Amino acid sequence: PQSRLPHVGTTIFSVMSALAFQHKAVNLGQGFPDFACEPALIDAVHEAMRAGHNQYPPMQGVPLLRQRIAEKLARQHGRSADPDTEITITAGATQAILTALLALVHPGDEVIVLEPCYDSYGPAIELAGGKIVRVGLDPLTFRPDFDRLRAALTAKTRVVIVNSPHNPTGVVWESAEWNALAECLRGSAAWVISDEVYEHMVFDDRAHSGVWRHPELAPKSLMISSFGKTYHVTGWKVGYVVAPAALTAEFRKVHQFNVFTVNTPMQYGLAAFMAEPHHHESLSAFYQAKRDHFCAGLAQTPLRLLPCEGTYFVCAEYDAISRSSDAEFCRWLTTEVGVAAIPLSAFYAEPPTQQRIRFCFAKQTATLDNALQRLKTLR
Ligand code: PMP
Ligand code: GLN
Repeated sequence: PQSRLPHVGTTIFSVMSALAFQHKAVNLGQGFPDFACEPALIDAVHEAMRAGHNQYPPMQGVPLLRQRIAEKLARQHGRSADPDTEITITAGATQAILTALLALVHPGDEVIVLEPCYDSYGPAIELAGGKIVRVGLDPLTFRPDFDRLRAALTAKTRVVIVNSPHNPTGVVWESAEWNALAECLRGSAAWVISDEVYEHMVFDDRAHSGVWRHPELAPKSLMISSFGKTYHVTGWKVGYVVAPAALTAEFRKVHQFNVFTVNTPMQYGLAAFMAEPHHHESLSAFYQAKRDHFCAGLAQTPLRLLPCEGTYFVCAEYDAISRSSDAEFCRWLTTEVGVAAIPLSAFYAEPPTQQRIRFCFAKQTATLDNALQRLKTLR
């Protein structure tokens, strides 16, 4: 058939995981934990299954889970959401992003992404018939450049996609940056899709702010999060979208014919687990310790670390080791050194010449130490 996505191959995450498996490399590429989630979460799902929660839940998601999310929002941002009209459970953030774009974008509309960005945004915009407009983050700091964003806004801009804490760079937007986004969009008809899947991984006493807390952004935004990241269950593929009722209504029109709904026992299990906020409120400290351990080890290699303010990723420059492209370097690192990483070029349409790679540190200490031992042989 004539391809709807002629430029698209297999995602870099699948490619690098397969290569890591083939060469028995330590896989610090694709972002997922190599440790178990809390046993209480598994128990809660089993209990839900035994209690007979195995048929279709309501289209918008299990009411108790939406109620728990509303309570979490109130505690986190001082602003709740109506579980009936403003919260929808999705099959992970990926489905939420595609569904939001399908719901909002008309053929020919422009959608702005801030590059580098997560690899699903571009193809999802294309599938929705939108035109991708790429605005570069600051090439040195990876912070948003609002003058460039302002210059890219047109009457055709339908959506701006933002992502903080940011994959792949680990940058966490400050309140002033959310304010600047709001100011930039004043007078524009654009909606915001805010990918906040790493909302509970922010370090060094930073706080995640986001669109839902912001009085001017909340009415024009869809906030997306993912239980996969927060509760160490990326394979469950459960996430959610928070948006004002009118936006949620349009989102659900597409959602009901996209997946209709999301698996029932996981939703009940997550609802039970969420009743204790420390499960997500302790996540930043948990990952900060992993970041510190991994980065202390990396500092003893010729790799040059970039700052990591949040997420479970850290980027590094390898210019002291090699002049090859980041894709070649990652292949070599996997096959010859035995550590898989992700080339940063995967997050760009037209990558700048740079020698940067991304490591995922959501791993057991033994895994990180094994990787560090191998990386310390680099010269
Ligand atoms: N957005 C970002 C920035 C991500 O890093 C990921 C996961 N890698 C997703 C969305 C997708 O999340 P999910 O697995 O819940 O679909
Ligand atoms: N989001 C994860 C990452 O950035 C991977 C998700 C995927 O494999 N598609 O590594």
